[in-house]
Amino acid sequence: MTVTRFAPSPTGFLHIGNLRTALFNYLIARKAGGQFILRLDDTDRARSKEEYVDGVKADLDWLGLHWDRVERQSERLDRYAEMAGKLRDAGRFYECFETPTELDLKRKKQLNMGRPPVYDRAALALDNDTRAKLREAGREGYWRFRLDWDRIEWEDGILGPVSIDAASVSDPVLIRADGQVLYTFASSVDDMDMGITHVVRGNDHVTNTATQIQIIRAMGGEPPAFAHHSLLTGPQGEALSKRLGTLSLRDLRAEGVERMALLSLMARLGSSHPVVLAADLDEIAAGFDLAQFGAAPTKFDPEDLWPLTRAHVQALPYDEMKDRLAELGVPDDLAPAFWEVVRENVTRREDVAEWWALCRDGAEPTIAPEDADFVAEALTLLPPPPYGPSTWAHWTTAVKAATGRKGRALFMPLRKALTGQEHGPDMAALMPLLQKVRTRA
Ligand code: GLU
Repeated sequence: MTVTRFAPSPTGFLHIGNLRTALFNYLIARKAGGQFILRLDDTDRARSKEEYVDGVKADLDWLGLHWDRVERQSERLDRYAEMAGKLRDAGRFYECFETPTELDLKRKKQLNMGRPPVYDRAALALDNDTRAKLREAGREGYWRFRLDWDRIEWEDGILGPVSIDAASVSDPVLIRADGQVLYTFASSVDDMDMGITHVVRGNDHVTNTATQIQIIRAMGGEPPAFAHHSLLTGPQGEALSKRLGTLSLRDLRAEGVERMALLSLMARLGSSHPVVLAADLDEIAAGFDLAQFGAAPTKFDPEDLWPLTRAHVQALPYDEMKDRLAELGVPDDLAPAFWEVVRENVTRREDVAEWWALCRDGAEPTIAPEDADFVAEALTLLPPPPYGPSTWAHWTTAVKAATGRKGRALFMPLRKALTGQEHGPDMAALMPLLQKVRTRA
């Protein structure tokens, strides 16, 4: 069975980059009729917060990316300790004592000599006596995984064949001096134990993947199939990392971005398939193909979410808007007609509020100086509301007869006087919705 997971660290709210990872893994499971696990990578107790756990769940819920079960790394510490013991016994874990400053110095020396800054395994040569002395002297040991120095190869679902020389990678630190299990290790144990079959994640994890393949094999497991998607950049190709804070899913949602706009864009951006607004996740899953994604950085422009949001909102049936219209106080008998009339003039659901305020209270008129007399005269010909479907035709005919104006010169000043805007719904259809007109402006 296909099993995937989305594995955020609950140290912040989900952003647009996380959505891409979550969606790909979700879609793979959904297409295959498999399982999608929400795994919380929360071994960093200081930075992980329940608030963010709740935030992650709320965002995924809103998007409709439902998980089959939740796993938390913080509840699996015994298991990690057990597997760490096994790797230690197998000679794959070794204790190190270098301080960050010492490591930094080593790296600088290597770089000066034109060599890659790979950990030199000095700690591997320490005998038991020396280790004991270091501990006595107050040094705290942390643990590295000893890589096998051969080539680590896999067929990547996006990058194609990848081959990494393990000797070009530092033996990863898997357990810190304070006992904290690091992600690289916890994730390997989890992926093995939970039978994860496919992992899609950002290409900033490629080196992790190389080491995790060896760690999983060293534990007797079979690594999942890996795929690494490119990272998102801004529209100019600039790094997005600093702006991701403002691109949190909750903020985009609060701004009125529709979930289908986000999902539709993210399911296609960076692939050879065009972006199309999908009706639901089934349609997105049907059209999803990981092999269509390229390795090049993917440009993301938040502005692209608006045309998709607009198209989605404008197509909403009345039933979907009903509750919001009732909250706004649109009378039940007017509400369906109101939605029909304004739908083509909104981008976000919330835009109906402005149109309703206009209908309820009348708009602040916009009147060009050269139209002032004309509008004043026209307004004397307009009876007070309520209006009907033929009000506009009768009124404009009367105004035409009285003033001699016709065409755009007749209609535009009247539209601007009644709505304050040059653009908007068909006036004949809007008139019956107007509860008030500011005739004395
Ligand atoms: N917690 C890791 C991250 O957010 C998960 C990466 C993975 O998918 O393995 O980067």
